[in-house]
Amino acid sequence: MGFFADLHIHSRYSRSTSPGLELPELARWAVLKGLRVVGSGDFTHPLWFSGLKTSLHETVPGLYSLETGRPRTFFILSAEISLIYKQGGRVRKVHLLLLAPSLATVERINTALGRRYNLTADGRPILGISAREISAEILAIDDRVLIIPAHIWTPWFSLLGSRSGFDSLEECFAEVTPFIHAVETGLSADPPMLARVSSLQPYTILSNSDAHSAANLGREANEFACPLSYDGIARAIRENSVVRTIEFFPEQGKYHHDGHRLCGVSLAPDQTRKLAGLCPVCGKPLTLGVLYRAGELADREAQNRVPFTYQIPLRQVLSQVLHCGENSQKVSRLYFALIERLGPEFTILQDTPLAVLAAEDEKLAAAIQAMRENRVQRQPGYDGVYGRITLAGAGG
Ligand SMILES: [Zn+2]
Ligand SMILES: [Zn+2]
Repeated sequence: MGFFADLHIHSRYSRSTSPGLELPELARWAVLKGLRVVGSGDFTHPLWFSGLKTSLHETVPGLYSLETGRPRTFFILSAEISLIYKQGGRVRKVHLLLLAPSLATVERINTALGRRYNLTADGRPILGISAREISAEILAIDDRVLIIPAHIWTPWFSLLGSRSGFDSLEECFAEVTPFIHAVETGLSADPPMLARVSSLQPYTILSNSDAHSAANLGREANEFACPLSYDGIARAIRENSVVRTIEFFPEQGKYHHDGHRLCGVSLAPDQTRKLAGLCPVCGKPLTLGVLYRAGELADREAQNRVPFTYQIPLRQVLSQVLHCGENSQKVSRLYFALIERLGPEFTILQDTPLAVLAAEDEKLAAAIQAMRENRVQRQPGYDGVYGRITLAGAGG
């Protein structure tokens, strides 16, 4: 039996995160969602890390749990670092996800970074060092650490982003490139978009939630069929044997199309090109989204290489079925009741037979069937505004 893992999340010590983001809360939500493995998030932060050391037990090699015995949730030690530096005469901003095999390794990474950088200001620290140098330094500390370019195409803060990124991993990592094995899609991109860029072919595709609140865990995730251990997961990532990724519809992400939030302008890439990349309202350069950037770097037709499944969070499905807000009491009550009766959110969204769902609520069954068959209307996100996916028949 495979298991689901969400490897990239944040703690309450990261900017603009929920104050309730504590380990027990993450573990509780992981069970509700159907995730066996969740990133610890923010291991570079001294307070969060000391909490990890006091609360977690290594229950299988390289994975940690709050309780001994037979835990339901396993944490993999994870952090995201934000690199801002100059290369080739341009400012580069790159986010990297780190996965570490042990608390001892994290301790050594934190000691090395803490000598030069302020790790307390933010759970996702800003480091003035190149991706190439920091990766070489971390791999010299422990070559079992996995370094994964995060949300690889978002316009700001990503390796291939339109604003401050590179055109290829080689340009960014140089001689360290062979030690990079995977890239993260980000919410606004999906595997077929990555498959149009031949230089990304060797890399394992991962999808994670980058959640800033526990309820957002698993909005993207990965299915593994490997031994439940750090090395099992690391080998699956290195050898590109991830079973599939769970994906947002990419239009739902905040940077799929191009545009200006304040000008209320949202454009598809061919419209942007006709306008030479300038905003028709204010005349300034548009924020070029992930689809535009994918088109710039694409050098072939999409090739289906990694199986993946689109998924809409259950609360959003319920909000469309019940015609009320995602965070309303009504949605919450039904959300928890369904999970209690039918099992975790992932099971309900993907596996529960439609007849069983229909016995609960016929409109719910119809909405989930529409999601499973990709019968959706897509209103793409742009310049920091989430897009909207409407399930066929549930829009009303
Ligand atoms: Zn990031
Ligand atoms: Zn504008």
